[in-house]
Amino acid sequence: MPEKIAVIGSGVGGVAVAARLAAKGYHVDVFEQSDMPGGKMSEIRHDGYRFDTGPSLFTAPEMVDELIALCNEYDTDFQYSKLDTICRYFYEDGMVIDASGDPLQFAAELAEKAGEDPGTVLKYLDESRKIFEFTYPVFIRNSLHRARNYLTSDFIRALFRLHRLNPFISLHQLNRKYFRHPNTVQLFDRYATYNGSNPYKTPSTMRVIPHLEHNVGAFFPREGMYQIIRTLTSLCEKLDVRIHLNTRVEEIVLSRNKVSGIRVNGEMMPYDMVVSDADIWFVYRQLLKNLPFREKWFRHERSTSALVFYWGMEMESRQLDMHNILFSADYALEFRHLFELKTLQPDPTVYIFISSKVVKSDAPDGCENWFVMINVPENNGQDWDEVIAGARCRIEEKIERLLKVDVAKHRKFEFILDPRGIESRTASYRGSLYGNSSNSMWSAFRRHPNFSDINGLYFTGGSVHPGGGIPLCLSSAKIVADLIPILKK
Ligand SMILES: Cc1cc2nc3c(=O)[nH]c(=O)nc-3n(C[C@H](O)[C@H](O)[C@H](O)COP(=O)(O)OP(=O)(O)OC[C@H]3O[C@@H](n4cnc5c(N)ncnc54)[C@H](O)[C@@H]3O)c2cc1C
Repeated sequence: MPEKIAVIGSGVGGVAVAARLAAKGYHVDVFEQSDMPGGKMSEIRHDGYRFDTGPSLFTAPEMVDELIALCNEYDTDFQYSKLDTICRYFYEDGMVIDASGDPLQFAAELAEKAGEDPGTVLKYLDESRKIFEFTYPVFIRNSLHRARNYLTSDFIRALFRLHRLNPFISLHQLNRKYFRHPNTVQLFDRYATYNGSNPYKTPSTMRVIPHLEHNVGAFFPREGMYQIIRTLTSLCEKLDVRIHLNTRVEEIVLSRNKVSGIRVNGEMMPYDMVVSDADIWFVYRQLLKNLPFREKWFRHERSTSALVFYWGMEMESRQLDMHNILFSADYALEFRHLFELKTLQPDPTVYIFISSKVVKSDAPDGCENWFVMINVPENNGQDWDEVIAGARCRIEEKIERLLKVDVAKHRKFEFILDPRGIESRTASYRGSLYGNSSNSMWSAFRRHPNFSDINGLYFTGGSVHPGGGIPLCLSSAKIVADLIPILKK
C-alpha cells in the first residue's frame, strides 16, 4: 500500500490537502520554495503594521471549520465574525452604497440610493441561491472529469434545472435585465472579478457569488486572513506533516507511467504519490520534464492579475469601512483595456481594504493599514515600472476626488506587489490570480482535472478544477483527498 505523499507548494490548497491526507493516515511532506507558507495568501509585518498580502474577503468559512473538525482539533483559536457591512461602494457621481450583510437591509439601501425595487433585489438573490444549491455539489465539490459523477442523484437533479443557469447570456446582460440603475448593474457586474473574469463575457452563472456574500455572509478571521494559513499549518503539524520551507521541487520523477518521487537540490526523494499545488502551467513546463506539453489545457485566456500598494497610513479615515470600492466611471472601457488591450485605462476601479478597522493590532494607534488594489492584465511583458508610476498618480487623484484624502501627506511607507512579483514569488504563470479566466461557458470544463493519467499524480489549488479563490481551492483539496483511499494499516 503506498504511504508517502509529497505536496508541492503550501498555498491554501496545498496545506489543506496535506492536512486531509495526513488525517487519512498518510505520511505527508510539504515542499515550499518560499520562506513562509501561504503562497498568495501571505502577510507582511513592518513598523507596527500588518498587511494580508492577497485574499481579503472570506466567504464559506464552514470549509475551514470542516477541516478543523476532520482533524479532530477542537481547541484551535480560529474564530471569525460576520461583517455587518460587506463593502462600501463609491461612485464618481457621488453615490455611496453600503452593501449590508442582511439581504433586506441591502435591498432597502439599493431602493433608497438607486431607486431599485427591493422585491427585485431579493428575487435576484433568491434565484442566485437556488442556482448555487444545485450547482455546488456537482460543479464545486466534485470532479467534473470523472464519468461516475454524472450518474449521481445530485447530477440528475441538476440536469433538470440546467435551464436556470442561463449560460448563453453574460453576467452584465443578466444584471441589466434585473436592475434599473447603472450603478446597481456595476455593483453586481463586479462579481466577475472574483475569479479574474470579464462581466461582459463571463456567463451569468457567475451570479452564484452574490449568494455567498449576501445570503450567507462575508466574514473575517479574528486575527486577519493569514490566520487561515496559520490554522491550517498548525493542523498539519499536529498530524506530523513536515513543511519544508525554502525548498524548491525541481522535478516530479516518474518511472514508466507512475510517480516515483521528486527531485530537490538535485537529489531524488522517493514518494508513492505527489499532489501539486503549483500552477499547472509550471508543472508541465518545469516539473514534468520528459512529458509533452498538454496544450489543450492552456489555450484559454488567463485571468487578471493585480497591482497592490500596501500603504502604512498615519491617519484614520472616517469615510472608509473595511472593504471599499471606488468604481471607475466607465466599467466597459476598463474591461476592454484589461482583456483586449492588456493595459490600464486612465480611471481604474480601486479597492481599498483596511483590516485594522476590525483587527486593531494591525496598525499603531491612530493609524491604518491600507491595501490598495487595482485589477491589471496578466504579465505580457508590459513596462510595469511605468504602469505602476502612472497608476499610483491616478489612484491618489481618485482618492482625493472621492474621499478628500491627501494620500501622500499621510503615507508613512509603501510596499508594492505587481504581476511580476506574483509570478516570481508564487510561481503563478504570468501573475494571473486565478489561473484561466472564466470568460466562456465552457471554462469550467477547460480547467485541468485534479488527477492525471500518470499514476499517483494529483493537482490542487487555483489553477485547476474548480478554480481560484479560497473556497474553491479548499474544494479542490477535498476533491483530491476523496480520490485517494483511506490508508489501511
Ligand atoms: C492580491 C490578491 C488578492 C486576492 N483576493 C482574493 C480574495 O479576496 N478572495 C479569495 O478567495 N481569493 C483571492 N485571491 C486569490 C487567492 O489568493 C488564490 O486563489 C489562492 O490563495 C491560491 O491558492 P493555491 O492553493 O492555488 O496556492 P498559491 O497561493 O498559488 O501557492 C502556490 C505555492 O506553491 C509554491 N510552489 C510553486 N512551485 C513550487 C515548486 N516547484 N517547489 C516548491 N514550491 C512551489 C509557491 O511558492 C506558492 O507558495 C487573491 C490573490 C491575490 C494575489
